[in-house]
Amino acid sequence: MVRADFPIFGEMINGQPLVYLDNAATTQKPNAVIDAIANYYRHDNANVHRGVHTLSDRATRHFEDARERVSSFLNSPSSRQIIWTRGTTEAINLVAYSWGVNNLKAGDRILVSWLEHHSDIVPWQLAAERVGAEVVPIPVTSNAEIDLNALDGLLDERVKLVAVNHVSNAIGTVNPVEEICAKARAVGALSLVDGAQAVGHWDVDVQALGCDFYCFSGHKLFAPTGVGVLWGREDLLEAMPPFLGGGEMIETVSFEGTSFNTLPFKFEAGTPNIAGAVGLGAAIDYLSLIDRSAAAAHESALLAATLEAASEIPGVHRIGAPKQSAGIFSFVMEGCHPSDVGMLLDEQGIAVRTGHHCTQPLMSHFELPGTVRASFSMYNTLDDVDKLIAGLKKAQSLFGPR
Ligand SMILES: *Cc1c(COP(=O)(O)O)cnc(C)c1O
Repeated sequence: MVRADFPIFGEMINGQPLVYLDNAATTQKPNAVIDAIANYYRHDNANVHRGVHTLSDRATRHFEDARERVSSFLNSPSSRQIIWTRGTTEAINLVAYSWGVNNLKAGDRILVSWLEHHSDIVPWQLAAERVGAEVVPIPVTSNAEIDLNALDGLLDERVKLVAVNHVSNAIGTVNPVEEICAKARAVGALSLVDGAQAVGHWDVDVQALGCDFYCFSGHKLFAPTGVGVLWGREDLLEAMPPFLGGGEMIETVSFEGTSFNTLPFKFEAGTPNIAGAVGLGAAIDYLSLIDRSAAAAHESALLAATLEAASEIPGVHRIGAPKQSAGIFSFVMEGCHPSDVGMLLDEQGIAVRTGHHCTQPLMSHFELPGTVRASFSMYNTLDDVDKLIAGLKKAQSLFGPR
């Protein structure tokens, strides 16, 4: 029972045992991760890649071991293609600035879907603005799936990059990223997949996906905040100039000119989040002991049970109906603002997210102020579902149609 590995479930929230259904915002951390971070600070803490002393060597080994684990987790051809970042947001910014600003020109297009998180929209807008390129949205269907016919209509030689998420954080849609990356490649465009929401549910194979860049955040993979990963095709990363300058990313520095370190260090200026990387490595180790397809099937069963029970509550409407969905239930309740539903659930110890989920274009597309989002992880139970449904019935009796 994985739940026992997560100490947070000992917490009482407003006098009730915690029902944590905000996993799409961040996941809880198992003891294995918490202990790895504490042990790193207790026994191995030093700066990496610099010292000749034993402790620095130990810290460096732990840090680089974590990179190797991420590399195999993503089935990367090489760990040189694993760049540490602060998270998905920084990873996308790195590509937008380093690749985008230096390769895009006026008239070029970047396609992003209506489903994107702000962090897969705004960096492209900032980069496009600098060079006179254009960010063009890929429409979604009423089911909240990327409209592949519309994508075909948009793909032409002006398109230089297609950026989509693997799983939508707002709706749960699992996007056919392999197909989308192939379509991009067919017109000579690159592809970037925002995997923030996918890694928490299954292991990712970047080679099978055929993407050019893949990004994720540790904290949505049972690891700490403040650490994340950019994976990129090696030839692209080699050709890209540094994003941030400083220590660690250089080979030699002089006032006549500076030369840069090799991959991956070229993109890792300054002292990195060493403990964060160690925690992320520990999370991947922990997951390697878990049957992830069984965990994903369990989450699907929780979603199915939720959808069925919620369909019987008058006035509760699911937003989108993707055929392939991660364990996310995004809905509105007639007569009750999402934040009121969220507050009422919180009184019962139930944590959900309410609002626009950093996807304002999607919310305006569906003409919604926001939704209530319950998102499941492997440690959730049918009891959590029952409590959510009871909470919604209570909200419905107070505010809903009758
Ligand atoms: C959480 C999330 C992000 C942003 O991740 P950060 O950890 O905040 O950088 C981007 N895209 C999706 C789909 C997400 O779920």
